[in-house]
Amino acid sequence: MELFNNGEHVCLAFRKLVAGDEAVQANQFLIFDGQHAALIDPGGDMTYSELYIAVSEYVDVKNLDYIIASHQDPDVVASLNKWLVGTRAKIVVPGLWERFIPHFTRPGKSNGRVISMPDEGMNLELGSIRLKALPAHFMHAEGNFQFYDPVSRILFSGDLGANLCLDEELDRPATRLSQVIEYMDGFHRRYINSNKVCRYWANMVRQIDIDMIVPQHGRALTDRAVKDFILYIENLECGVDLMSQESYQIP
Ligand code: FE
Repeated sequence: MELFNNGEHVCLAFRKLVAGDEAVQANQFLIFDGQHAALIDPGGDMTYSELYIAVSEYVDVKNLDYIIASHQDPDVVASLNKWLVGTRAKIVVPGLWERFIPHFTRPGKSNGRVISMPDEGMNLELGSIRLKALPAHFMHAEGNFQFYDPVSRILFSGDLGANLCLDEELDRPATRLSQVIEYMDGFHRRYINSNKVCRYWANMVRQIDIDMIVPQHGRALTDRAVKDFILYIENLECGVDLMSQESYQIP
């Protein structure tokens, strides 16, 4: 699915590369700007071949600039070894996970190929743009980033905003939060760590101009759903907020 295209700058989502029902649906993203391209959250082993073929219809895959991982989960980076071998791209990972992610590869394979994102975030040069890696720690991973593209004004939000919707709805961005809330609420209550970080995140993203929030699972959010989602997250009770002694009983 084309999320944005002005001729020079293009954002694409690949949504249906995960086969079968056992594994969670996941989106993979390609941003290209002129001759430069980045792949965000390329996924696990099961998406590698199909994604490689799909991406090669748009860019020279070997010359990808970056393979970016928002966090360390298998549905985000389990395919890392294959991408290291199959391309010359730099691998961009949260600093917190830098020493863990090489476990997905063979010894020495990642030497000189890794860009480590510091906790405070960074700007990644990609053609004419600077892709912003925004801190989203504890949402859900302890070291976690989202990516804001200033040209398309898309926020690639990783697991935040994930909605495990019906397959046939995937390509239709939600314009109202009510269209997806039933598919996202349970996930966010359990996986996002606490309301404290939700409020910090809301304060941060309100300072940027966002046309679309695109999570790693499910539908994109656009129009009024963007504002409403930020408000929903700001007020969300989740994670440790909802834990009590009841949750810690010997089984
Ligand atoms: Fe995750």
